[in-house]
Amino acid sequence: MTQGLITTAVGSYPKPDYILRARNQVAQGRMEAAELHKLEEQATEHWIRVQEELDMDVLVDGEMYRGDMVTYFSEHMEGFRISGLVRSYGNRYYRKPIAVGPVGRTSPISLDWWKYSQGLTERPVKAMLTGPYTMADWSFNEYYPTFADLVMEMARVVHEEAVDLQRAGAKYIQVDEPAVSTRPEEMELASRALGVVTEGLDAFTITHVCYGDFSAVYDELVNMPVDMFDLETANSNYDLLDMFREHPLPESKYLSMGVSDSHTHLVEPVEDIKAGIRRALEYLPPHRLFIAPDCGLKTRKEDEAIGKLRNQQQAVSELKAELGIA
Ligand SMILES: [Zn+2]
Repeated sequence: MTQGLITTAVGSYPKPDYILRARNQVAQGRMEAAELHKLEEQATEHWIRVQEELDMDVLVDGEMYRGDMVTYFSEHMEGFRISGLVRSYGNRYYRKPIAVGPVGRTSPISLDWWKYSQGLTERPVKAMLTGPYTMADWSFNEYYPTFADLVMEMARVVHEEAVDLQRAGAKYIQVDEPAVSTRPEEMELASRALGVVTEGLDAFTITHVCYGDFSAVYDELVNMPVDMFDLETANSNYDLLDMFREHPLPESKYLSMGVSDSHTHLVEPVEDIKAGIRRALEYLPPHRLFIAPDCGLKTRKEDEAIGKLRNQQQAVSELKAELGIA
């Protein structure tokens, strides 16, 4: 029996209404932060149990305690100030970090949450960090001479965090770099920074880069210094996989493929998911293939998110039976 088709998720799940309400109350000074923390623990445990019941292999904590993936880390670091509300694309407003001094950690940032969620389950829980390129790209830089200087200093900080997580027992460490997808021409810088993050780590390292046109930088992409790429493949109807025809993934590398679109209400039918995975199996053996949603599921309703995960699990379990995979 071969092994493979490990199932997981990218990182975020929908937050229950009680978390959103509590966050507002804390912001208005009407609730203690400790009380919010308790509710975040409760929501984290809920998602751990959901994933266990669905029989997923590698779990995530669902990011119940994060507002935004960049602000969350910068708020807990030295060297950043948080701006007033800044308008992003569309009508969303958010607070943007500003690097105003040397960036660094005074203590681990995500470690306690990882330990909490790993303490709830026997299954491995993936540690998730925001990558140095994305941290820098989604911040203002008012301190470092160049943008690249900020990226490389952030890389050192993210590496320290990764080392702490590994030391605590994290077997999977994911470094999210969604900003790379909007600037494939900066892949070289992002990749150099990622090399600093993953240097010397024994944990299985992953990067999630979101959806983008990577055709011009395919060589840099496959040579990024991680064990596995996590790519969004469902939202391109799996056509992104065709790049592996002309550019086979190096044998040392794994692929995590997305089998559900994180931006649609539709729960993808099991047969569609199986067809997508079969397309990937034309290029990669099952033991080098992980199965996940395209991206974080935080913008979905809970029943949509669970529906997508349930069909993912069903598709994988049917395919494993058909292929004789343990
Ligand atoms: Zn994504």
